[in-house]
Amino acid sequence: MSKQAVTVIGLGPMGQAMAAAFLKAGYAVTVWNRTANKADELVAQGAVRAATPAEALAAHELVVLSLTDYDAFYAVLGPATEALAGRVLVNLTSDTPEKARAAAKWAAGHGARHLTGGVQVPPPLIGKEGSQTFYSGPRDVFEAHRATLEVLTGADYRGTDPGLAQVYYQALMALFWSSMTGYLHAAALMRENGISAEEFRPHALKAADVSYFIGVMGEYLDADRHDGGEARMVMNAASADHVVHTLRDAGLDATVPVALAELFHRAVSAGHGEEGFTSLIKVLERPAG
Ligand code: NDP
Repeated sequence: MSKQAVTVIGLGPMGQAMAAAFLKAGYAVTVWNRTANKADELVAQGAVRAATPAEALAAHELVVLSLTDYDAFYAVLGPATEALAGRVLVNLTSDTPEKARAAAKWAAGHGARHLTGGVQVPPPLIGKEGSQTFYSGPRDVFEAHRATLEVLTGADYRGTDPGLAQVYYQALMALFWSSMTGYLHAAALMRENGISAEEFRPHALKAADVSYFIGVMGEYLDADRHDGGEARMVMNAASADHVVHTLRDAGLDATVPVALAELFHRAVSAGHGEEGFTSLIKVLERPAG
């Protein structure tokens, strides 16, 4: 059997980790990056450097893309459309679901098939147990290349809509960024009070485990019920103000807590003051009509 082969386009920290994982797994790997010297280490490990995107596409059927955004996807592949026919593009670039859908159509127009991916781990966890990527797009393409994709991370196929992997990915990023920034606001307050991040760690870890709340809220949201009366929205709004005042009293930035307090007060103003925390979704969802 001939050696399995893959092209990797985009060698930021993520693409480099992916190309290295393929090399380690014994694949023949062709790489291309706009800034060519980012391929040097991979070439030293056995990768082949393509001179142009068209050459990289021509090298192998399976092409993994890891770029900053979908504008970069068109900037790289736009001038190389004649080399797209028959390729499988596994696009692990983050962007909006709409852009993923448009890219799948664009690729099909040039004879290529497009799988969208949303990688859920940072580069050091590529090739490690427990890592995961959401995929969506044609199921047969996913199944045909699943084993190869699993060299990188676990593969969680979500469905045929090419936007779906990015819907999951961006939803989780919304959760991730607000949690991580909340942690840094908290750590800044602790530091201001002479408490190190190490000392704070066990308390932060405990508070960051919101699995109980997510478990309970799911039932309420799906039933469109917001009667969680033990944590009324008026109380939540007052509590959010206390966080803002505490940070400001300490001379610290309060950008995210201010935004949260503003949302909570909007929910109260919209008539949800006596309802539970899940009523906040009424302020967040798309207005009717
Ligand atoms: P980077 O933004 O560091 O690098 C991505 C690559 O995009 C680089 O190779 C860069 O080329 C290339 N690029 C950007 N714009 C253009 C352009 N106009 N034309 C040609 N090439 C371009 O990203 P990462 O490697 O960190 O991540 C890649 C993707 O993975 C992103 O979509 C990111 O959101 C996602 N991701 C990243 C994670 C992480 O922790 N890093 C975690 C999970 C997902 P050049 O080297 O020439 O600048």
